[in-house]
Amino acid sequence: MTETFGHFIDGEERESLDGARFDSVDPYTQETWANAALGGAPEADLAVSAARKAFDEGPWPRMGVTERSELLHNFADVIEAHADELSLAETRDMGKPTAAVKGGDVRHTVDGFRFYADHARLATAEVLPMDTGHHTYTRYEPAGVVAAVAPWNYPMMLGSSKVAPALAWGNTVVLKPAEDTPATATILARLAVEAGIPPGVFNVLQGYGPASAGSALTEDPRVDRITFTGESNTGRIIAGAAARNLTPVSLELGGKGANLVFADADLDKAVDWSIKGIFNNSGQICIGGSRIYVQRPILDEFLARLVAAAEQLTLGDPKNAGTQLGPLSSQGHYEKVLRYVDHAASGGGGKMLTGGPAGGWFIKPTIVSDVPAGGRLQREEIFGPVVTVTPFDTEPDAIRAANDTPYGLSALVFTENLSRAHRVARQLRAGTVWTNCCFVKDPRAPFGGVGDSGLGREGGTFSRDFFTEPKAVTMAIEGVMS
Ligand code: NAD
Repeated sequence: MTETFGHFIDGEERESLDGARFDSVDPYTQETWANAALGGAPEADLAVSAARKAFDEGPWPRMGVTERSELLHNFADVIEAHADELSLAETRDMGKPTAAVKGGDVRHTVDGFRFYADHARLATAEVLPMDTGHHTYTRYEPAGVVAAVAPWNYPMMLGSSKVAPALAWGNTVVLKPAEDTPATATILARLAVEAGIPPGVFNVLQGYGPASAGSALTEDPRVDRITFTGESNTGRIIAGAAARNLTPVSLELGGKGANLVFADADLDKAVDWSIKGIFNNSGQICIGGSRIYVQRPILDEFLARLVAAAEQLTLGDPKNAGTQLGPLSSQGHYEKVLRYVDHAASGGGGKMLTGGPAGGWFIKPTIVSDVPAGGRLQREEIFGPVVTVTPFDTEPDAIRAANDTPYGLSALVFTENLSRAHRVARQLRAGTVWTNCCFVKDPRAPFGGVGDSGLGREGGTFSRDFFTEPKAVTMAIEGVMS
């Protein structure tokens, strides 16, 4: 039976005004498994109106932080109780193995709501004593209505990494999930009602991006903050819309992460993390290590081990517990990634050591060496299970190669030399550097990118600063000389 997912506006699940809907195709079965309400400008208007009213007149920004925090903890509990439903929905929308969603995305979503609920509740503010007979203190007041636009590769986890801090700091939200992955956003909104979050506080707007729900939402002057995760070019368009309304915007964009493996690395660790770093989520990961650079003395051994490990990975039905790689998320995306694989297979893009299409919308883990300098496979974000491996000689060569990209989201370094690890991390132009590990995130740490990878940072106090209007209150103290 086809499942249905509506918009969620003012505490109610709704159809579009004209009743239009769009399909979500399961990338494993290639059949329509669900459909969702197809929103446009009228539904964006309704969703922003509901969020505006809930912010301007409703209890959410006015209640004490303790009560708000308790409601967000309730929400986390309810999400956890629905882990199976959410995990399966994500698998059916975009093909990610259900076990990985349950152990990763759901866990991070639950932890995120708990973390931001506690973070807002425990936060301190500043008191600034002045020598003029005054003192100033700071207040972190909610910014207002937040427009959150999410991508399809980690739909629930990335959507909630925006929704959780925005709600914790007293804002109201309109979340627009990607058109390929509508399900979990609506399920989360249903669960928010169950958890006692008041109507209009967390709204979901379904639909496409350009000239549709996404653009209408981000162009609305009643929105106070825009937080976006997606492609760099979409980020440029959204930054333009934000600029016209002078709306603060946070952009988490594309990546082309370098992975530097030095000759003194622990090879077992380096191979293991390099495999996870690029083939997790079938390579549909912005913080992946998609350009591996290996110091020449260990190149042959590293390559042999990397190819052997990649060939061990299990592709299959993402609902099966043992599956490590599911299909790519949609036909369009599969065809895009396949064009890069074909480019490699034709010899033009380098030497393909392993990989290629595997039936359906599956692509086997693909490793390419001997990529010509400045080749497309090394320059462009492929967003699939495709990795290039290139030798380097010296530490400065490795740093130069890593930084030779317009992106700057993340980088990996493998070395057992402590000083080298710190020295290299400082010189890499990236928002996050992982040394001898990958994907390990502290929710207090800044997360974001430089260059074409984004604008602003998420996480801990960085999220507080974005989702609030910090205010300075200055008091005169009578009887003290000013
Ligand atoms: P996308 O830019 O195509 O779409 C992202 C979202 O923006 C979708 O909800 C889409 O409907 C909406 N959108 C598209 N055009 C719009 C417009 N003109 N106005 C308003 N909304 C619009 O990206 P995608 O294909 O869904 O996601 C993949 C991209 O996301 C990759 O480039 C990846 O690197 C990036 N990404 C970055 C991070 C990060 O943390 N930096 C995390 C995950 C994904």
